[in-house]
Amino acid sequence: MSSFIYADHAATTPVHPAVLKAMLPYFSQQYGNPFSLYRLGRQAKAALEQARESVARCLGALPEEICFTSGGSEGDNWAVKGMALAGKEAGKLHILTTAFEHPALLESCKFLETQGYRVTYLPASPKGFVSPEQVEAAIDEDTCLVSVMYANNETGTIQPVQEIGAVCRNKGVPFHTDGVQAAGWLPINVQAQNIDLLTLSAHKLGGPKGVGVLYCKKGLSPHSLIQGGKQEKGRRAGTENVAGAVGLAKALELTRQNQARRCREVAAKRDWLEGQFSALPGCLINGADPRLPGHLNLSFPGVEGESLLLYLDAQGIAASSGSACSSGSGKPSHVLLALGRSEKEAKGSLRLSIGEDLSWEDCRRLAETAKEAVKLLRYDV
Ligand SMILES: *Cc1c(COP(=O)(O)O)cnc(C)c1O
Repeated sequence: MSSFIYADHAATTPVHPAVLKAMLPYFSQQYGNPFSLYRLGRQAKAALEQARESVARCLGALPEEICFTSGGSEGDNWAVKGMALAGKEAGKLHILTTAFEHPALLESCKFLETQGYRVTYLPASPKGFVSPEQVEAAIDEDTCLVSVMYANNETGTIQPVQEIGAVCRNKGVPFHTDGVQAAGWLPINVQAQNIDLLTLSAHKLGGPKGVGVLYCKKGLSPHSLIQGGKQEKGRRAGTENVAGAVGLAKALELTRQNQARRCREVAAKRDWLEGQFSALPGCLINGADPRLPGHLNLSFPGVEGESLLLYLDAQGIAASSGSACSSGSGKPSHVLLALGRSEKEAKGSLRLSIGEDLSWEDCRRLAETAKEAVKLLRYDV
């Protein structure tokens, strides 16, 4: 049996050994509550604040602008609902976002629509982008938040975040971006990129599940969603996930090392894979460059995405059709539909998201197996 191939890094990533090592002491030795005044508590507090400083440094932010959360979903919910509640006080009830955001963002917006808010979902170009001009034209005097994701989880397409941020700054509207997928691969500097709120999640970049960050620019005050104790300067109640914060900080630091070289190496393999598939009759590539280096989203109309996955799984290959969050629902991906794909094209989709662990030999087996599967499973050739 050949080795297991993991081509689903956009769903989650393995915890980096150095991250695990950094976290371990905070489970059974340094287990104090950061709120406790005795030494064990103070040590936990010191570790938490050190993690906060490290994250801030990686993002070009101030430590007090970093809040730890339970992950990407909480960060997205907090940014959009928290800013919506703050907007209401100023009589501003409009939110501007895109049709291809992560469900955590989209479902938050849909909920707000039931609460009297107005939401604009900008359509994507066929290649998967929104433009700063589109954003500018859709902002009005009621807009309390613009939210456009940095890189898409299904296609990997990278939005012009800095330019969109500049438009928002000009108009005086806060700008949030979901950087969960981007953070592992792209440099982020919240100041240079005009970002006011930024969501991160550790498990998409070599850290543990269940911990994330919401960066919030000084001076902005999204309402809290979790009330209780005065943790995180009263912004988010709940005993802090010390080990998780330490792990997130370590993972983020590691992604900053040799980032450009790692991107080039992974992109070279992705591009080779793309070449292998694009030769197949009927194959469509979903989303265009600029893309994250490990993402490859393909459609094979006439093939069921789910059958393709099961076939690959039986061969020891883990991949995805669309996002893990919507798979199993039987519904075509809202992202691919937003790019103008038909239902049939969207249902026949395969998302490969590769990481540094994939060898060239793995690439060759992945391509061979997937090509074989497509030929076998196509029902209307
Ligand atoms: C995975 C993901 C999320 C959700 O993060 P969790 O930590 O799993 O809650 C949000 N946005 C994007 C773009 C993601 O890929």
